[in-house]
Amino acid sequence: MTDPGLGFDLEVVSLGNRAFEGNNDSYLIDTEETTLIDTGVAVEATRRQLRAGLDARGLGFADVERVLLTHHHADHAGLAGEIQAASGCPVHVHEADAPLVAQEPAATDAAEDRLRDRVDAWGMPDPKREELLAFLDATDGIDGEPPEVTPFENGATFDVGGVELEAVHLPGHAAGLAGFAFDGRDGEELFSGDALLPYYTPNVGGADTRVDGALAKYLDTLAAVAERGYTRAWPGHRGPIVDPPGRAADIVAHHRRRTERVLEILSDGPATPWTVSDELFGSLSDIHVLHGPGEAFAHLEHLEAGGIVGRAGPEGRRFERLVDDPDVARLFPDLPASPRHGR
Ligand SMILES: [Zn+2]
Ligand SMILES: [Zn+2]
Repeated sequence: MTDPGLGFDLEVVSLGNRAFEGNNDSYLIDTEETTLIDTGVAVEATRRQLRAGLDARGLGFADVERVLLTHHHADHAGLAGEIQAASGCPVHVHEADAPLVAQEPAATDAAEDRLRDRVDAWGMPDPKREELLAFLDATDGIDGEPPEVTPFENGATFDVGGVELEAVHLPGHAAGLAGFAFDGRDGEELFSGDALLPYYTPNVGGADTRVDGALAKYLDTLAAVAERGYTRAWPGHRGPIVDPPGRAADIVAHHRRRTERVLEILSDGPATPWTVSDELFGSLSDIHVLHGPGEAFAHLEHLEAGGIVGRAGPEGRRFERLVDDPDVARLFPDLPASPRHGR
């Protein structure tokens, strides 16, 4: 699919994936330079789909001249090493996610330790903990061959065959999540990775347990997206978002409602993130065993930072309400109504 108004050739390669947020997108910028934004997970079905997408333009892995990654998750970065091995191209990712994409043992070990600590602190029952760790072990290979990475910082620019892309750090879902902004048809557009998705909200709190204050960081990201007024976003999953500021405002509203729901749950007494997750999402399987309580924790942590809840009991795993009639609104950015939706 190419938008004739875009001013350059963009091929959206849709990659099947049921393990995470659903279908991934790999974006092929086909100018004088062949650039891929995200690669999909390192499994055979996805590899075939990506090859077919490139093949439609007479290209193969060996022709890719640059890979830009939005973040370290396997469904975005998995095939980067393989593509680099075939073409020798640089693989760029934000500095905060670079050690994980490179699969540096110190970084992957630290992330794994952090995850285990978090899961314990959330009060996850042992059988669920074992189920989760077994699931993560079983999916180990989907990260693929580690590439040699070239890290970038917020604001870095890439000239990809006459199209200038600016890296925009969008932390929350992952510590090193970055989008790539460019001048589009009617204004600035953004390859948004998992920072802005259509239909559903990206997980915060469980998707990258390295992130402290994940919800606060993500709310700042959403406010920045709204502020910059992108006219269109090309997300890491599913189709383009025609009103990024409006979508950012919707996601903020969603998190505010969820925070209010978390407070309601705590009116029955102190609870662990796991218990709150159970009330919010019910029974969970596969990656959601991590994402559910992570999300609950991110909301509790945000309320704690705002002085509305605190830790109950000596172990500090349970949270309790500190305030009878809390002002939740002040914990959320007040995003302007989107002019294009008239909201
Ligand atoms: Zn992700
Ligand atoms: Zn994703």
